[in-house]
Amino acid sequence: MSLRFYNTITRQKETFQPLEEGKVQMYTCGPTVYDYAHIGNYRTFMFEDLLRRYLEYRGYEVTQAMNLTDVDDNTIRRSKERNISLTELTDEFKSAFHADLKTLNMQPAHQYPEATNYVSEMIEMISDLQQKGYAYKAPDGSVYFNIEKYGQYGKLAHLNPDEMVSGGRVADDSYEKEGVRDFALWKGYKPEDGDVHWDSPWGKGRPGWHIECSVMSTELLGPHFDIHCGGVDNIFPHHENEIAQSVCATGQDFVNYWLHSEYLLVDNKKMSKSLNNFYTLRDLQDQGYPAEAIRWMLITTHYRQKLNFSVSRLEESQKAVNRMREFYTKLASYEGGGQEDAESQIKTAQSQFILAMDDDLNISGGLAAVFELVRWGNRAMVEGALSVRGASAIHDLMQSIDHVLAVLDMDSGLSTEVDEAYIESKIEARKQARANKDFAASDAIRDELAAQGIELIDTAQGTKWKLK
Ligand code: AMP
Ligand code: ZN
Repeated sequence: MSLRFYNTITRQKETFQPLEEGKVQMYTCGPTVYDYAHIGNYRTFMFEDLLRRYLEYRGYEVTQAMNLTDVDDNTIRRSKERNISLTELTDEFKSAFHADLKTLNMQPAHQYPEATNYVSEMIEMISDLQQKGYAYKAPDGSVYFNIEKYGQYGKLAHLNPDEMVSGGRVADDSYEKEGVRDFALWKGYKPEDGDVHWDSPWGKGRPGWHIECSVMSTELLGPHFDIHCGGVDNIFPHHENEIAQSVCATGQDFVNYWLHSEYLLVDNKKMSKSLNNFYTLRDLQDQGYPAEAIRWMLITTHYRQKLNFSVSRLEESQKAVNRMREFYTKLASYEGGGQEDAESQIKTAQSQFILAMDDDLNISGGLAAVFELVRWGNRAMVEGALSVRGASAIHDLMQSIDHVLAVLDMDSGLSTEVDEAYIESKIEARKQARANKDFAASDAIRDELAAQGIELIDTAQGTKWKLK
């Protein structure tokens, strides 16, 4: 079996064949740096990290570019609300984003192009589109892409041609499928833009969001590359518009494989800033959740399935990581004198892991193979049947698979300072729950603290705590 991915544009799994043997070029839409990214955003970035790590595990040399959107409707609005310059705002959240990536043990992209550094290239591409007859200037000094001129428009998002309003225009960066219109490549200056503007052949203004990614991907990876990713909300309009711009400007194919990850939900609704139902990485770390539990939770549900965020899921995730870590440590110090070299078990685990992950990153299948080996290995160590050579070979396999999962050695990201007031409040809440004979609630508090590395000890003088 070969490596296969579900390609959004064809709506089917396809065998992966890079343009250049052994090499993969991927472009992943990055954050809009107007606020802290929430863990819904990180679900998408983490899927991209998993994808890249697995491609590397399979021997590909991957080049990844991830843009930072540092000028768009949202960044301008927020900088005005906060009464600071656009750069001041975006610098703050660029650094926060890089710090979060590190905490979550994501591999840094090879390039992080920032939109404001590519405005002259954007003006060039828009001029080119205008010369070729795909774009036109509107009376307010904006430039629009004429979707009627591009016959393939709507192929990625499966738009119904009857729903496209010919001649209509949409100026916003984000809009719904019901509002398919000509979209803005360049936005003529409006007083709300304050001092955010550039000179252009159409007067002063600023780029639209979609042109940013067409230009930065072409500049860094060339006009035609292998993989382009994002969350499912990027399919329309962002990626649909990117295809139109890039194909019409360069006259070449653009992207071979479009991969999109599903949402992280809270109570069955998309985690998002607008619904105010989001958690940042900092929120969870402040509550004492280690980064490895968050990482595990986000990568271990298949990327095309919706994932409901919950605290109990985080606690389960921590247990799974702990099991892997304990096994890994035991293997390293194993001194039993058995004869079993575990060759067939290792071969099976590895081939089952690859078989599953090759099938569009079937992570549950991959982990089932790993945990089967963990179960078998633990038993073989307890019984003393495993040889030292076998333990060391399993250790090597776990290490190589951890290039993909990346949880064995990562730091928890938690400050070593303990929030004593928080723990005391939890102990008090547990005491209340016990007084009310609500033992489910009191157990849940104990488990929640345990997942954060805090052990409760009930004594005659009341409940005490210690770090595990
Ligand atoms: P933004 O900063 O809004 O441009 O979003 C950055 C990335 O996060 C995009 O690829 C979005 O598709 C993705 N994203 C936003 N919300 C969620 C969510 N709740 N679950 C998964 N991905 C999301
Ligand atoms: Zn993008």
